[in-house]
Amino acid sequence: MGRAMIIGCGGVASVAIHKCCQNSDVFEEIMIASRTKAKCDALKEKLQGQTKTRITTAEIDADDVTALTALIKSYQPQVVLNLALPYQDLHIMDACLAAKVPYVDTANYEPEDTAHYEYSWQWAYRERFENAGITALLGSGFDPGVTGVFSAHALKHHFDEIHEIDILDCNAGDHGYPFATNFNPEINIREVSAKGSYWEDGHWVETEPMEIKRVYDFPEIGEKDMYLLHHEEIESLALNIPGIRRIRFFMTFGQSYLTHLKCLENVGMTSIEPIMFEGKEIVPLQFLKAVLPDPASLGPRTKGKTNIGCIFRGIKDGKEKHYYVYNVCDHEKCYAEVGSQAVAYTTGVPAMIGAMLVMNGTWNKPGVHNIEEFDPDPFMDALNKWGLPWQESFDPAMVD
Ligand code: NDP
Repeated sequence: MGRAMIIGCGGVASVAIHKCCQNSDVFEEIMIASRTKAKCDALKEKLQGQTKTRITTAEIDADDVTALTALIKSYQPQVVLNLALPYQDLHIMDACLAAKVPYVDTANYEPEDTAHYEYSWQWAYRERFENAGITALLGSGFDPGVTGVFSAHALKHHFDEIHEIDILDCNAGDHGYPFATNFNPEINIREVSAKGSYWEDGHWVETEPMEIKRVYDFPEIGEKDMYLLHHEEIESLALNIPGIRRIRFFMTFGQSYLTHLKCLENVGMTSIEPIMFEGKEIVPLQFLKAVLPDPASLGPRTKGKTNIGCIFRGIKDGKEKHYYVYNVCDHEKCYAEVGSQAVAYTTGVPAMIGAMLVMNGTWNKPGVHNIEEFDPDPFMDALNKWGLPWQESFDPAMVD
């Protein structure tokens, strides 16, 4: 039925590509295009004997809009799935506009030189995508991604009005290293060392990094410490869920991770300000990334589960209602299936699903849209089918 171009060939892309190849009735042909072609070729080599999907590869610097536009025009995909880094988002959107091909990503744009992300840069493309008649689907990972779909599902099927959303992201995986990050270390550390914030009564409330802590008893995992972080889906959900009063995002961290992070921060290793080292300019955080374990190497060592979901408080038929919808994912099962741990898996599967729904026209809305703006039903069905089944509770413990 279709042809997709996937940009990037890192941890998340590897899972999405495995899943496209399992779904070869839809993804008849894919191109893996990334900065390091050898990685694309190695993945093609691994997969091509086991799938009907025809795989081609290409080397591309996605920041070179002219070259990327030419590549898209020559391959003529029905969708471009951006699984490079957030820094590339706008360039890939520019190329999709020039080639008139729909666009899907999993993380919002972040300029490389400021540790700050928000949707405004991508939302500024709305009119151009509308005029070109093509869809851009933003944030089709897990969080953002499935958390937005869960919110749209809750609104459609369980509430007349949602007043509060708590997004809970628990990773109880143990990789055995004193310190490592589960996905790109630079992106991960930028996210967790930033100030926290949440949405309340129409405005942002800012907190110090890791200032707000709660303990939650996660289904299938148990009690974990979790900390309030700023997270990108809060910004779009605040606009797209009518009547919303508060949205918070919590992520679990173990004490060892936090102690290491504090120490690295204190000595300046998490800084993104360039410094001179032996006559060469380096960015401390990028150097740190180079010495940390590659997230891809954590797969075979990680045991335990993730549990990511949303707890809603709202009104149904005039009465207060609580609802929790979540997915539990097992690191070792993910590794056995696709050779990656659950953090990449929980992002790569929704990326494939988003690309599928845009590619086959199920989700077709010219302009630039966040995931909760689409009908959640086909996505919720696909989660169950493609490896991220969801569970629900109508009497969950609430976070105070
Ligand atoms: P990785 O660092 O593992 O992979 C990034 C890939 O992009 C690499 O293959 C890299 O190439 C490639 N790349 C980087 N720059 C360019 C460029 N200029 N042109 C072409 N290719 C480029 O990252 P992850 O797989 O961990 O993350 C991928 C994306 O997923 C990120 O945007 C991340 O923020 C997002 N994410 C979203 C989550 C969600 O739930 N929504 C959760 C986790 C991640 P090379 O191989 O040469 O390094």
